[in-house]
Amino acid sequence: YGDASQKIDYVFKVVLIGDSAVGKSQMLARFARNEFSLDSKATIGVEFQTRTLVIDHKSVKAQIWDTAGQERYRAVTSAYYRGAVGAMLVFDITKRQTFDHIPRWLEELRSHADKNIVIILVGNKSDLEDQRAVPTEDAKEFAQKEGLFFLETSALQSTNVENAFMTVLTEIFNTVN
Ligand code: GDP
Ligand code: MG
Repeated sequence: YGDASQKIDYVFKVVLIGDSAVGKSQMLARFARNEFSLDSKATIGVEFQTRTLVIDHKSVKAQIWDTAGQERYRAVTSAYYRGAVGAMLVFDITKRQTFDHIPRWLEELRSHADKNIVIILVGNKSDLEDQRAVPTEDAKEFAQKEGLFFLETSALQSTNVENAFMTVLTEIFNTVN
């Protein structure tokens, strides 16, 4: 464990996108380090984090990219998307606007990324059910229409975060095997 000679069979780049404050960085912290912070600073400078896991007896290094506070429309550069084989399109279930912006994030993603990129739509902050502004059905319907996977998550409660990342990584794995 932690042996430098550990063989890596695959490296998969996955990008996180979506409006500011939807919880992208906390989802990544949860997945990569099992951490969560309620007063997380706007992400500055950090490019990506990795976690190595095993899928079907192969070792897969997930390289998850997080926007460095570039969430303004069209501020995310094409370098961010380059080489990505997976994407997580995140909105906040308590902020309708973050869901209404999903089509343009999707359009931007599709114009920059590989056409075979695996995409999951994620409604984060499912712990705030009493403040819900986006019905699950609306998101599910949109995802179905666009051919995306869909899950609701809570980075705070650690609900479905692992599942969301594994859905993307397993699907990528299946398409290269
Ligand atoms: P980003 O700008 O998309 O990277 O969003 P952050 O990860 O920085 O999160 C923005 C704020 O939402 C922070 O105060 C987080 O603690 C909070 N947050 C993130 N995920 C959740 C969640 O699942 N539930 C709740 N209640 N708050 C969350
Ligand atoms: Mg962030």
